Amino acid sequence: AVTGSCSMVGMAGLTLGGGYGPLIGRFGLALDNLLAADVVLADGCLVTAERGRNEDLFWALRGGGGNFGVVTAMRIRLHKLRCVVSGALVYPFSEARDVLRRCADAARFAPDELTVQVVAGAGPDGTPVIMILPTWSGSRDEADTHVAPFLKLGTALSNTVETVRYGASVSVFDPAIVNGQSVFMETCLLPVLDEAGIDMLLKAMASAPSAGCSMITHEFKGAASRVPLDATAFGLRRDHVSIEILASFDDGAGAEEERRHRQWVRDAREAFASIALPGGYPNMLGEGEAARAAASFGQNSERLLRAKRLYDPGNVFRSAIPLPIVAEAR
Ligand SMILES: Cc1cc2nc3c(=O)[nH]c(=O)nc-3n(C[C@H](O)[C@H](O)[C@H](O)COP(=O)(O)OP(=O)(O)OC[C@H]3O[C@@H](n4cnc5c(N)ncnc54)[C@H](O)[C@@H]3O)c2cc1C
Repeated sequence: AVTGSCSMVGMAGLTLGGGYGPLIGRFGLALDNLLAADVVLADGCLVTAERGRNEDLFWALRGGGGNFGVVTAMRIRLHKLRCVVSGALVYPFSEARDVLRRCADAARFAPDELTVQVVAGAGPDGTPVIMILPTWSGSRDEADTHVAPFLKLGTALSNTVETVRYGASVSVFDPAIVNGQSVFMETCLLPVLDEAGIDMLLKAMASAPSAGCSMITHEFKGAASRVPLDATAFGLRRDHVSIEILASFDDGAGAEEERRHRQWVRDAREAFASIALPGGYPNMLGEGEAARAAASFGQNSERLLRAKRLYDPGNVFRSAIPLPIVAEAR
């Protein structure tokens, strides 16, 4: 199944709102692989949404999140893919600028089968590092050619890239997801991670208040970019890079820590504003960001709101994805 890059995230919310992951270039977003959904609507009816049946609902569910009903079952297109070549390459933060430049150059012309995630944050011992996570999902014979450029972006401190089952490849982030942490998250979309973007990322990381601050990129390319814009509610079908800005700190660390971390994610996101695309990845927007969500849905906003009025006129379902109509109703 086409998943996100983190095995612990639930498939329902991920799929209904988008689903950026390591197979995006080859098979699209998670929602591009949704074939049908059983949904309990606001009036209590159980319906199936798929091609040819409740098509407006099927269209709206693929990007509009949980704003339309409770999904009780999903039918998902599966792909034959035993293994991928994937892992983490850790580079010292002192080489960050060169590593990121070389990485962006190598990723720019990579085929659909290769996706690359970048993480700027603290390594296991708390020292800041740049982590590059390539995933090759094409033929094993071609893997070395396409992955090789990422192995020599700088002085690699460690390298876990190997042939692994796809499921294992998406557990790299699991150790970082622990209980007892508060997390603030902001998001923005860049057309490409170029020199200006790298500059902003490095400046933001330099002012991070703690080792709990990080930035993670997700690529959008290939098969996902080739889906027509009006095929699903997801509103951005062009190559881009989604940036996740995270600040985590221990629960109960106090109001001052909370304020510093909240301020940092906001400042970091605002720093990208001059080069960012409108909106943000809806699955990572929060309450009070209805205007940004509308910008993300772009020309699909109108049809999405029509579906909302049709399937949930009383606004029973208020998704984490803030539809403009939700803001109006509150
Ligand atoms: C640690 C972490 C890593 C992430 N990594 C990625 C990633 O790699 N790629 C990516 O694209 N996104 C990623 N995300 C964002 C993720 O897509 C969203 O947080 C998504 O909402 C998670 O869905 P969930 O079902 O786990 O969450 P939940 O909190 O359970 O649900 C979120 C919302 O989804 C809707 N929803 C969930 N289940 C249903 C249902 N059965 N019926 C109707 N609506 C439902 C509801 O509106 C709900 O409020 C990540 C998030 C986290 C916290």
